[in-house]
Amino acid sequence: MKKRKVFIGGNWKMNLNHLEGKEFVEKLLQLIRNNEKKEIVIFPPFTTLFTVSEVIKNSKIKLGAQNVHWEDKGAFTGEISPQFLIALGCEYVIIGHSERRKYFLENDEMINKKIKKSLSTNLKPVFCVGENLEEREKGETLQVIENQLKKGLKDIKELNGMVIAYEPVWAIGTGINALPAQANEVHSFIREFISQNYGKKISENLRIIYGGSVNKDNIKDLLKEEEIDGALIGGVSIKLNEFAQIINLDL
Ligand code: PEP
Repeated sequence: MKKRKVFIGGNWKMNLNHLEGKEFVEKLLQLIRNNEKKEIVIFPPFTTLFTVSEVIKNSKIKLGAQNVHWEDKGAFTGEISPQFLIALGCEYVIIGHSERRKYFLENDEMINKKIKKSLSTNLKPVFCVGENLEEREKGETLQVIENQLKKGLKDIKELNGMVIAYEPVWAIGTGINALPAQANEVHSFIREFISQNYGKKISENLRIIYGGSVNKDNIKDLLKEEEIDGALIGGVSIKLNEFAQIINLDL
């Protein structure tokens, strides 16, 4: 039995338009059984949020967004307000995903503003951290993670439902997942950082999830690790049967 409620997130990335996404969740709901032990959250693209929200209303699947802006409104062409996400029923938002850091040049300061804004709007951040291959090979993993945590959480007093996702960049979309023990080591480090900065009680309640090439075959071993409280799943979250199998796993 896990100490904390297992979090299974499906990051659809830029896949499934509003019609495809609706059909996907209609089918998914037929395949999954009620399992109170897990929290299931899907993260469709912005334009798919509305149709999906209509289907999953009153179901056990929750909604999240893949990004958010740090202002409520104004002259920010192309951006999305946290208020719009709340209005659609989003409970979570992914912040600091490595694809946003890499392709859209999001830096720690922007990530910090997004986290602060989300927390003040009652959106729960899924704050992503992770080292790249070069950093791991140089033995800099924990230093990189600490730096991302320090800067991303700067001046943040309360974590209010936040989830931290450890997503080693070298494992995302590559088919090479971190070994359970490798991930667990970083998760323990993150929990210790939170304990030192926010206190033991908050750190014990915080969910730290793993992301990077998770599939139906490797997830069980990952979740056996004490410090791994769930998974953020990319590629496999749009494979209907496999994602349903993961949701239905007995833990
Ligand atoms: C992700 O997008 O957060 C992710 C972990 O992707 P994948 O599962 O495809 O590696």
